[in-house]
Amino acid sequence: MNSIQEHILKLRDELNEHNYNYYVLDNPTISDLEFDLKLKELQELENQHPEFFDIHSPTQRVGGEITKNFETIPHEYRMYSLDNSYSKEDLFDWESRLKKMIDGDIQYVCELKYDGASISLTYENGLLVKAVTRGDGFQGDNITANVKTIKSVPLRLKGDYPPKFDIRGEIILPIDGFNKMNEERIEIGEEPYRNPRNTASGSLKLQDSAEVAKRPLECLLYNLTGTNLGVHSQFEGLTKARAWGFKVPMASKLVSSMDEVLEFISYWDVHRHNLPYETDGVVIKVDNLDQQEELGYTAKSPRWAIAYKFKAERVSTRLNSISYQVGRTGAITPVANLEPVELAGTIVKRASLHNADQIEKLDIRVGDEVFVEKGGEIIPKIIAVDLNLRPSHSQPTQYISNCPECGTLLVRQEGEAQHYCPNYNGCKPQIIGRIQHYISRKAMDIEGLGGETVALLVNNGLISDYSDLYELTKEQIIPLERMAEKSADNLIYGIKQSKNIPFERVVYALGIRYVGETVAKKLAKHYKNIVAIAHASVTDLVNVDEIGIKIAESVVEFFNSEKNKFIIERLKQFGVQLEMSAEQLMGQTNILQGQSIVISGVFERFSRDELKKLIEDNGGKVSSSISSKTSFIVAGENMGPSKKKKAEDLNILLINESEFLQKIK
Ligand code: AMP
Ligand code: ZN
Repeated sequence: MNSIQEHILKLRDELNEHNYNYYVLDNPTISDLEFDLKLKELQELENQHPEFFDIHSPTQRVGGEITKNFETIPHEYRMYSLDNSYSKEDLFDWESRLKKMIDGDIQYVCELKYDGASISLTYENGLLVKAVTRGDGFQGDNITANVKTIKSVPLRLKGDYPPKFDIRGEIILPIDGFNKMNEERIEIGEEPYRNPRNTASGSLKLQDSAEVAKRPLECLLYNLTGTNLGVHSQFEGLTKARAWGFKVPMASKLVSSMDEVLEFISYWDVHRHNLPYETDGVVIKVDNLDQQEELGYTAKSPRWAIAYKFKAERVSTRLNSISYQVGRTGAITPVANLEPVELAGTIVKRASLHNADQIEKLDIRVGDEVFVEKGGEIIPKIIAVDLNLRPSHSQPTQYISNCPECGTLLVRQEGEAQHYCPNYNGCKPQIIGRIQHYISRKAMDIEGLGGETVALLVNNGLISDYSDLYELTKEQIIPLERMAEKSADNLIYGIKQSKNIPFERVVYALGIRYVGETVAKKLAKHYKNIVAIAHASVTDLVNVDEIGIKIAESVVEFFNSEKNKFIIERLKQFGVQLEMSAEQLMGQTNILQGQSIVISGVFERFSRDELKKLIEDNGGKVSSSISSKTSFIVAGENMGPSKKKKAEDLNILLINESEFLQKIK
């Protein structure tokens, strides 16, 4: 082994260990920066030495593989569902059924029931070979490319593992991560995701694994499956899986009686609210695997396990009033103001009513006694009205017709649930919200300026759109509340610095509805300057990768506005970056415009990511699967035989690295 290879292997081992410490043990031993530096070093070495490529390398976790259609593959061992129970009686019934079928004492393992998407992982010789969804239990979707990006899923095991086994678990989205994702959605004017579970399973079906990599998913494991595993009980299985590097929650407990099971349940019924993720119950399993085998399965589920579902927490309280909030994009959200009530350990005063349809569906009226539930969702939800307690004089709720902030007549587009205030330029919360978005960290990142100061500046008539920021003077700012000379200096300096923010972030900062970070990047890259974007028609825009009709129409509408044109003209005068810099433009052409290109195999000079970038920089589109639409394939070493055959069948040109370089020269 040469020293470079040795170094690569050493870095991989180290990074695997740090990943494990961070994501499985929640106990990092180096800083994020040190980790990133090591990862970068490894990435560079791997790029220079593609001969040492390894799909199980920690560098492969960033994703990038695109799956258009997930392949269906059979489970070697069926994935069953679980019987449910809802009461003590149900559990004692289960126990007596067990006792009829087996002699001797029974021990139970109590585990939390993780609320996400089930997954089956297959390992061979310590390497992750596939990850498959439950599907119908007999076969599921192959989502390996996406699951590989989840950092708590070991790509390579440690210790003394069996040569081949399946392990089952649940992919979940922790509550913090879910909330963070929603903050970002709200920021770009998108509807927030409803709950972590659906968001987790939706994430797994994204086509672009690089997008999956960005989501804070976790994988919690609960069952080993296979033959000759050298494991004799469920609890031993959990312990061993943990030692091989899997994330197996520590809450699991081995007990010897139903009373202890009930104790476990009542403990977690209360304490589950402090967990970083959601759980909707407890799963109780017979511990001994021989006993499990004796008990066997019904048509749908194992006889040796049962789920106990916690009661969704529900209280009733009075609806005092309904208020209406106006968001940055003008979207109106009705909010229920409730008589404060305790629910699942927190005081609830407000609940979202979502939109007019929801109000109508619930027929909710001020003065009603309503049921509020904290179930799968984080934000408490009003699920029904107690009609028995409705006051006799009550009147149906009239949804507002005018903006509560500026009085403008609201509009509601066909097919949309939300009402909007169309007073884009005159409605305070929209004006303030847009400027707050402009200065936010992922946009212009203006240091020294916070959301509250923006509101203060607007309310004092000092600014009315984001271009006004660049004309602010120190003298104007100092008289404001809580503004000292120093903070005023910082503010002015921060604003000035934002003139260096690259074009793609400026596009995001403009706050065009539906244009989030990714779309902004696409637009900037494709059109290269603001004038070109502003002149693009809907038809032009939808031809850009990943831009759909909804986004395209929104972009056109934005640039049709005289006011927006004026604001952008001012941004230009102040020196904000409204085009790609010469540096960014280097090496960009349209040579591959309209071509769909597949990359396959391992390359000498470039990594696959670098090739992908080259293709995109030259206007082409990278596709993961070969079809009749494929323009050509850049083929390296070890191209898969099935791909090769498909290319031959469809008569698609294969070119090598140097031929490709020739093409884009
Ligand atoms: P259900 O979907 O209600 O039939 O519940 C069965 C599902 O619960 C299984 O398919 C698993 O995905 C999930 N589950 C979550 N936590 C556990 C656990 N600790 N043990 C077994 N299954 C679990
Ligand atoms: Zn308004």
